[in-house]
Amino acid sequence: QTFEKFNLNVQLLSAVKETGYEKPTPVQEKAIPLALAGHDVLGIAQTGTGKTAAYVLPLLYKVKYAQGHHPRALIMAPTRELVMQIEEAVVGFGKYTDLRYVCLYGGLGPKTQIEKLQQGVDIIIATPGRFMDLYKRGEIYPRDIKTMVLDEADKMLDMGFLPQIRAILEVIPVKRQNLLFSATFNQRVEQLSYEFLEFPERVEV
Ligand code: AMP
Repeated sequence: QTFEKFNLNVQLLSAVKETGYEKPTPVQEKAIPLALAGHDVLGIAQTGTGKTAAYVLPLLYKVKYAQGHHPRALIMAPTRELVMQIEEAVVGFGKYTDLRYVCLYGGLGPKTQIEKLQQGVDIIIATPGRFMDLYKRGEIYPRDIKTMVLDEADKMLDMGFLPQIRAILEVIPVKRQNLLFSATFNQRVEQLSYEFLEFPERVEV
């Protein structure tokens, strides 16, 4: 089985091919069709399973091409390192699209990040703290966000990001698609998934 069976477009399939992926991993096999069908997805998958492509490909398919000024998809991750790994996937799989993205994380001044936001972006990849900082400064217009991903949700909770996640959910549209990935499933992840996901399809690998 190959990636061709998914209803992705030629731009994404060509990029997948060039990345060297020959066949989907189990989490991709299960999560990609569900996400493409518009479901909320609760994915229980460790790093190394291919979880990043499992949500980045459907997200890129949905956002499709550069449009307007404001972000339409938001990927949240607990650390700058993970944000940068996700960026690599967005760049690699998005190479035949004109999609614009920005990475928002702390540890450096926000000037370049703000400039990129002001030029217009389709996708934001961010840690929760820096996202809320820039939102409060009026640099992010969140009302067009239609897809939201929480990656490594268990780690985000461990790092104490729940208040920021809740604050973000307050300012983005209620009607949206949500994808939550976590390496482990415990009571706190379950609680978060109740707050974040609507009728999720569960994928476990
Ligand atoms: P992840 O779990 O998303 O951090 O991915 C772990 C590693 O597996 C990354 O280096 C990916 O590039 C690689 N990978 C993901 N999906 C596939 C695939 N279908 N075929 C080959 N390698 C993959």
